[in-house]
Amino acid sequence: QIEVLPIPRHDGVPPVFFLIIFYDRTAARATERIRTDFVANASHELRTPLASLIGFIETLQGPAKDDAGARERFLEIMRDQAGRMSRLIDDLLSLSRIEMKRHLPVSEPVDLGDTLKKVGDQLAPLARQMSLVIELDLGAEPARVAGDADELIQVFSNLVENACKYGRSGGRVILRLRTGEEHGRPIVDASVVDFGPGIPIEHQPRLTERFYRVDVGSSRAMKGTGLGLAIVRNILLRHKARLLVQSEPGHGATFTTRFGRLS
Ligand code: ADP
Repeated sequence: QIEVLPIPRHDGVPPVFFLIIFYDRTAARATERIRTDFVANASHELRTPLASLIGFIETLQGPAKDDAGARERFLEIMRDQAGRMSRLIDDLLSLSRIEMKRHLPVSEPVDLGDTLKKVGDQLAPLARQMSLVIELDLGAEPARVAGDADELIQVFSNLVENACKYGRSGGRVILRLRTGEEHGRPIVDASVVDFGPGIPIEHQPRLTERFYRVDVGSSRAMKGTGLGLAIVRNILLRHKARLLVQSEPGHGATFTTRFGRLS
């Protein structure tokens, strides 16, 4: 959209100069598009398990009414579908809570070493279930950042959960902290490293899109919602931190978060 404004002159002579203003409507349109796509995707993701639940209820009321074996099997599937809807709603609510706080500054000093230790302890049972061991490699330097402690726990929980779910063949998951400098500024890298199948390069730039999954079949089997990395991205935006993904298929994946470090 373009707007042309005459620049007024004070001597009564008609204007000869014009100010041409270009309005960039593309960004606004893209944001609107993302929002409508999101609502459509979220509705679709919720509708799928709901349709399956309704189907099973009707079958249990009709053809399978007196079949005890079928009832057991169907109830099991229905519990899974209800669980899936519940996880989706939890993730959608998390995402919207985080987006609402997006412009609030973070100021609390948080020690990322403590955060990684907590997440390692919390997810040790999940790792055991997947026959994995979580190892900590925290380095010697303190790694304090300005942050929101609960949100940072959520970031690393999501990353470690993914490393356990998708990297289960790798035997171990490493939580690593390294301090350093970037353009003369102190930084800290907190990484989650797995030794699973990794992520093909063409998928890597899209991983943080809402509902994006590399392999829908196996991600669904892994109880994924496709929102975990979108939540990570939004929290990191608020922290002015970056997410770097390194992965060579067949050799695992490393998700690194890079923060400005408090000295
Ligand atoms: P989900 O809820 O499906 O796990 P995420 O947003 O957390 O959603 O991740 C998006 C997709 O990225 C996953 O479905 C999976 O295909 C892929 N992915 C994420 N982490 C890993 C990993 N450590 N190894 C391999 N693939 C991964």
